Amino acid sequence: MYRRFITAGLLLLFTLTLTSKPRVVILATGGTIAGSAAGAAQASYQPGVLSIQQIISSVPDIEKLADLKGIQVCNISSQNMEERIWLELFKTIDNLFTHNLCDGVVITHGTDTMEETAYFLNLTLRHTKPVVITGAMRPATSLSADGPFNLYNAVALAASPEAHNRGVMVVMNDYILSADDVTKTNTVNPDAFSCPNYGPLGIMRDGQPRFYRESPFRHTASSEFDITGLNSLPVTEIIYAYAFSSDVAINALTAAGAAGIVVAGVGHGNYNRAVSKGIENASSKGVMVVRSSRIQTGGVDTAAEEYDSRWPVSYNKNPQKARILLMVALTKTRDAAEIQRIFKEY
Ligand code: GLU
Repeated sequence: MYRRFITAGLLLLFTLTLTSKPRVVILATGGTIAGSAAGAAQASYQPGVLSIQQIISSVPDIEKLADLKGIQVCNISSQNMEERIWLELFKTIDNLFTHNLCDGVVITHGTDTMEETAYFLNLTLRHTKPVVITGAMRPATSLSADGPFNLYNAVALAASPEAHNRGVMVVMNDYILSADDVTKTNTVNPDAFSCPNYGPLGIMRDGQPRFYRESPFRHTASSEFDITGLNSLPVTEIIYAYAFSSDVAINALTAAGAAGIVVAGVGHGNYNRAVSKGIENASSKGVMVVRSSRIQTGGVDTAAEEYDSRWPVSYNKNPQKARILLMVALTKTRDAAEIQRIFKEY
């Protein structure tokens, strides 16, 4: 109902606005980009305070880039991201593109789970138009806030014809980062995001993208996953391996009815005997287990002999991305060989 209202409103607004500029919709979800602190140099602050209109009006010249419309989807810290909001974002963007109501979408987002929302949409939105996610490491009230330039770059990218069919992208600190690899690698510094396995897709410079590479994985328009009509997603969880880890966590998740479990293994996706028994128990109860690694680069494959080759592996997907791919894959299949194929292709 709410979505139909938004869509109808946008259609009217864009129809009434005679412009040759690209039409970009900004979906605001909160985070530090909407954050406010009591002092300009203060480290502690409150995320998710400013409205999207306040954020847009703090960015000089942004209106020159595109015909902009802002929609406040929620105003949260992204550690509180919910499945319901992911599905709302998916449905809203799907609707905007299906009915040609805009040329590109920007999502403003807290940085803690930005990489997860990006990968979820990368797997599910079957469109070629650009979706760009951005945020900030410093609140809007900071001495040198990074949010305004990040938003400027994100809108410029979403408005660019060069950005089509590249999958969902994250723009932070002038980098264009692909959803399939981007991850947060620093807790506080403005240079907090990278693609540790493949490097950035490109950079933003002077309001223009410079692309250096393409994603080698299936995404967006070439995705096989159709989640239209779904109101929930299979429950998938992560367990973390470490020296003398117990089987308590994996057994609890199995008993709680998880559909899938990703193991953030040590090294090349390894774990000890206790966890191995927990995995066998999970698998015997129909839980799909995928081996990933707590190590940031190198991935987990099926090649070497030391490793437990009974379960699908995540290749270069880190545990939080592997969890999302497993969640989406389980909407389609529960066959381990198929799950392994999917991990190779996405
Ligand atoms: N933890 C908050 C969030 O992810 C603030 C961090 C940020 O946006 O940089 O929304």
